[in-house]
Amino acid sequence: MSEDRNKKEIILEGIAASPGVAHGRAVVHLQKQLDVPCYAISESRVEVELERFEQAILETRAEITQIRDQIAKTLGEGEARIFDAHLLVLEDNALLDEVTAELRSSKKNIEFCYNKVANRYIAFFRSMEDEYLRERVSDISDVSRRLLHNLIGMQKVNLGQLAAESIIISEDISPSDAADLDRNKLLGFVTDGGGKTSHSVIMARSLRIPAVVGTHDATRRITSGDHILVDGYEGIIVINPTESRLFKYGKLASERKKRDATFNSFIAEPARTLDGASIGLMANIEGFQEMDQVQAMHAEGVGLFRTEGIFLRHHGYPPESVQYDEYKAVVKAAGKKPVIVRTLDVGGDKLIGDESVKEDNSFMGFRAIRFCLGNIEIFKTQLRAILRASAHGNVKIMYPMISGLTELRAANAVLAEVKEELTEKGQAFDASIEVGAMVEVPSAAMIIDLLAAETDFLSIGSNDLIQYLIAVDRLNDEVAHLYDPAHPAVLRTLKAIIDGGNAAITPVSICGEIAGDPIYAGLLLGMGAHSLSLTSSLLPEVKYFIRHINKSDAEALVHDVMQLGESAEIVQRLEAFRQKALGKLA
Ligand code: PEP
Ligand code: MG
Repeated sequence: MSEDRNKKEIILEGIAASPGVAHGRAVVHLQKQLDVPCYAISESRVEVELERFEQAILETRAEITQIRDQIAKTLGEGEARIFDAHLLVLEDNALLDEVTAELRSSKKNIEFCYNKVANRYIAFFRSMEDEYLRERVSDISDVSRRLLHNLIGMQKVNLGQLAAESIIISEDISPSDAADLDRNKLLGFVTDGGGKTSHSVIMARSLRIPAVVGTHDATRRITSGDHILVDGYEGIIVINPTESRLFKYGKLASERKKRDATFNSFIAEPARTLDGASIGLMANIEGFQEMDQVQAMHAEGVGLFRTEGIFLRHHGYPPESVQYDEYKAVVKAAGKKPVIVRTLDVGGDKLIGDESVKEDNSFMGFRAIRFCLGNIEIFKTQLRAILRASAHGNVKIMYPMISGLTELRAANAVLAEVKEELTEKGQAFDASIEVGAMVEVPSAAMIIDLLAAETDFLSIGSNDLIQYLIAVDRLNDEVAHLYDPAHPAVLRTLKAIIDGGNAAITPVSICGEIAGDPIYAGLLLGMGAHSLSLTSSLLPEVKYFIRHINKSDAEALVHDVMQLGESAEIVQRLEAFRQKALGKLA
């Protein structure tokens, strides 16, 4: 990297999303903002443009075929079929003829003509009544993006197979990109958009990969190959860092290492306060691959299994056998410890390969339990797989995004039907399996007594609860400053849910990201939460913190902050509490 020495250091700022420092080469991954140029061409240039088009089609064909073969090898022929459809779209004669006609009549460059025709097709299919035809929209957008990249001569990045250790710079990292990422070579990531609880950030935290989001323009300011440093503690990116900056960060890294070693030294100890109160510390996972880490961190079980991870990695709706195998593997790895399997939370930003389900207001749309109740076969397949896995250990089922009793009862009716079908077939499952609901919609919080009476447990999804309470999109960097876990309305709601659960003797857990932040972990303990479920990499610090506070002090803290009207004051008190407990390690 010596050639970078004379380059000017540039500092960009964003939101500190996942702690740590990464230092290496940037790889810019562009997805959405494909700037398609538009310019006039002369008559003599028409044939040259057509040749470029032909060349790009050949390159695109080779790429799709290669991906197809790779998927067929790893996931089977069934999964690879989607790419056969892409090849048909790529070589669709009607579309190609229209592009040629557009080129000859408009005398504009070929990428402009192709983009125009492809967009016309996309608009046409999107307006179709027929679901099958509407689904073709994602095929055409995928293929046209690929072809345009080749025409414009932009280097595409295969996130699943990075050539070297890299820091990814992207407009955004969607949950399906995150599922594909080559985790061995990913040093860190930076995005233009996004908020602290976006799916990719949750993944980064669980992998202990530094991330800075909400930079607005990192993809325009950073070029692939740039030497950069990402500070996930402060939310800073340094392009061409100087030697002295690198030295300073080197020192910081060794201090952090010492601090982590202190936290880790308590990992096998119980999560018990100085005055003897216990709280369960469970792990959030997305799949079996995280179970080694869950064991190493001495988690008391899996408090949230985000099953959509399986669906995203599978690029579709996996059959019962695929789901069963993964649930069973997790359950067996957990031994006697509980595994709370959350039913599919698709929708919102988690699209399972079908762009046509994109909605204008997707977080308030056809998401999670709403989607499952509208797609009974998909729901039943998953419930069957979970129930069958329950024969191998301690499994609980949890429904996401419950907004009222009707939904809870409807989901339970489907579950009862699946149980009956399994019984008829003589298949083993835990007949008294516990069933709980996530509390992440304000309406659920308002009727917590009713929900607590009909569930075995409740779990607060604070990531969504905060966005719905404050009406602030959790992914939108423009309003990220309003996404405020310390907002008095959030604290009052959290307390009301925990009080409601305790009154009904229904245990309440918190599985949103605030559970992994010591300043909120202490507060939640003081409110009377039964357990916390968090990314296992954050467990040592939270456990250390719990072991260095008194529950009575945490209760006093709750009493204190509940009197305050502004979150800045609340954060100050919480921070002071944290610093007192952690001392020099704060
Ligand atoms: C939450 O909303 O807090 C939660 C745990 O679920 P997810 O982040 O998957 O929406
Ligand atoms: Mg949620």
